Amino acid sequence: MNEVHSDVLVLGAGFGGLSAAALLAKQGIQVNILESHVDIGGCAGEFKRKGLSFNVGATTISGFAQSKPIYKLCQELGILEQANESLTREDIGLIICKNSKRIRRYSDHVLWLKELSEHFPSIDHKLLWDKLALWDRLAWQMISSNQRLMPSGFLDYLILLKPSNLKGLLLLPELFRSFAQLLTSLNINNREYLELMQELLMITAQNDSSRTPSLMAALGLMYPAEVFYCKGSINSLAHLILDSALSNQASIHYKHKVVNITQEQNIYKVTCSNQKVFFAKKVISNIPIWNLSKIANCDFSRQMNKFSSRFENAPAAFVVNFSVKIDFVLESHFYQIHVKQAIPQCYSSSIFVSFSEQKEPGSYTVTISTHCHADDWLELKEDDYKQAKLQTQSIILEELHLAMPELVNYPKEFLMSATPKSYEFFTSRFKGQVGGIPYDLSNPPWTLCPNRFDDFYLVGDTTFPGQGIASVVYSAMSAVAKLNA
Ligand SMILES: Cc1cc2nc3c(=O)[nH]c(=O)nc-3n(C[C@H](O)[C@H](O)[C@H](O)COP(=O)(O)OP(=O)(O)OC[C@H]3O[C@@H](n4cnc5c(N)ncnc54)[C@H](O)[C@@H]3O)c2cc1C
Repeated sequence: MNEVHSDVLVLGAGFGGLSAAALLAKQGIQVNILESHVDIGGCAGEFKRKGLSFNVGATTISGFAQSKPIYKLCQELGILEQANESLTREDIGLIICKNSKRIRRYSDHVLWLKELSEHFPSIDHKLLWDKLALWDRLAWQMISSNQRLMPSGFLDYLILLKPSNLKGLLLLPELFRSFAQLLTSLNINNREYLELMQELLMITAQNDSSRTPSLMAALGLMYPAEVFYCKGSINSLAHLILDSALSNQASIHYKHKVVNITQEQNIYKVTCSNQKVFFAKKVISNIPIWNLSKIANCDFSRQMNKFSSRFENAPAAFVVNFSVKIDFVLESHFYQIHVKQAIPQCYSSSIFVSFSEQKEPGSYTVTISTHCHADDWLELKEDDYKQAKLQTQSIILEELHLAMPELVNYPKEFLMSATPKSYEFFTSRFKGQVGGIPYDLSNPPWTLCPNRFDDFYLVGDTTFPGQGIASVVYSAMSAVAKLNA
């Protein structure tokens, strides 16, 4: 049969689509999930080589503290116990290797301030970090107690005007002041410290300190204070969510790439590249808005195109993977290394290194990522592309060994790299752009793409950007709340 009807269609099985599907299935709603790839997880997926699990992209989980989105999702799905078994809180959340320093990002606020004071004694860290911690707490309180973010209509704005949201007004000015301006106002101008903040923002807010609003910088800089490590690979959490959906009668269809969406008499018709056609009154899309705007031929398409073209250039990633067996104990699973030389075809001054424990003791798969512009890779001719990929990979390994000489003598197996071209192929994302749309001074939250167009809802990091998987899961909860309303 080439035509399938269901209550709700979910397009894409990244964390956004899976979370929405599982929540709906739990409510007894009949859900079909269409996924273009052969596996779930998208940018937070995994791939296997000889029994080892390699991360596609994401490696850290934040937002699993009580009342935060991932915790709430697991609680609602009744999978908290299993999630607790897969996730371990990481303290030290991150080790920053800069010049000869190793700066440990403790989750404990006082320990972190002490660590900063030891490395940068002339700065009043308390003044800055107390502010950041307060804004982060208030912002998450606002996010957790409101299901209508991002507002997508008059009713959403009206509901958001409730008195308990008034304290959120405190945060408003911080959407219009850059983090760089905040540092200047506090007389913080130590170059090494500014670089430290800059690179932390690159891996969280994904933006420059002169472009990142202070509020988003607070959320980004507080991210490593609450990091969870997922045993094996991050995909085990995605599988828990999928299993919940399947146990509540949801169906997933792999190798079903959506190529056209039309609307006929209030019913959405979704066509896949294999000619299968699906119908539903309501659709939740996890397809990034750039791609969606090219395949949706519906009433809302013009409006969506407007948003998608405004944010066409977003970050992309270059990622190196390998496996290694070591016989020493790692202090953390996560390291950020400030590099000493420019990385070809990339624009970050740091690399992010994650170690994922495998079954055999001492065996790890390693994921190293850094930022690049998609066009710099997509425009290369085949031979130049291959050569550039090898060159970038080799400089990244050189920097890894400079910062972590304890790794030099251990053989690396399954060494490989991914560019925007690889992400374009495996995740279907436009130009292989990953990590979503960064918050910027020029795009305060209310100017982003709304997550609801009639009975069509959007989830994912191009609709609720900023905090990786935590935001993506929130976007699913918000879409489901709006769908139910
Ligand atoms: C290198 C790297 C490191 C990162 N590190 C972290 C981290 O440590 N922590 C963190 O929280 N976040 C991290 N992120 C960001 C995080 O991975 C993403 O923001 C998040 O996974 C995005 O989820 P999503 O559901 O919005 O989209 P995606 O993961 O892109 O999922 C979309 C899904 O839709 C499918 N799809 C696309 N088009 C179609 C179509 N036409 N038809 C059917 N299916 C389709 C895709 O195959 C995919 O499965 C990282 C990202 C990268 C690339």
